[in-house]
Amino acid sequence: MFEVFKHCPRCAAVLVDRDIADDGGARTRRACPDDACGFVQWQNPTPAVGALVEHEGQIVLARGAGWPDGYFALVTGYLEKNEDPKAGVAREVKEEIGLEVVESHLIGNYIFERKNEIMLCYHAVARGEIRLSAEIAEVRHYAPHELRPWPRATGFAVADWMKSRGLRVEFIDRPPLGVASTMPVAKGS
Ligand SMILES: [Zn+2]
Repeated sequence: MFEVFKHCPRCAAVLVDRDIADDGGARTRRACPDDACGFVQWQNPTPAVGALVEHEGQIVLARGAGWPDGYFALVTGYLEKNEDPKAGVAREVKEEIGLEVVESHLIGNYIFERKNEIMLCYHAVARGEIRLSAEIAEVRHYAPHELRPWPRATGFAVADWMKSRGLRVEFIDRPPLGVASTMPVAKGS
């Protein structure tokens, strides 16, 4: 989740909403009231990587620790400082499910609005024995045609990859993770 600062991370003044001039015209931003400091919280999206892992001819999806049953997704993670996205994909796949990425290709880049992230999504061919980190509850292997993406962020990457293989895409909507548990439960009248 992206951070919203209350205090300036440079000088600790309380941030205020100010009109900040930019090439596209002035916009209201959270910014430091001290012009000499000049900090502006731009809230640029944070890049993260997502790996659609191919292993022994099937796609491996992972259920994160603490996720509800039935929620399987790409292996994802944040980039380290100065890390190339392809290297980040290989590192995350190794760390989270223990496989060695031998080949990876960009599928595309997708906005994930809820977390203000840009998902850089790769098809990653991997080898080895699956070994789960503590962050992953379980993995499942799927034939490519069995994939049912959700219509958000990494789901669009799955859909685009399926289309590139000539597969028919059927989206299945589910409450977004992190929202499901706070959604009101419908009660019968
Ligand atoms: Zn400041």
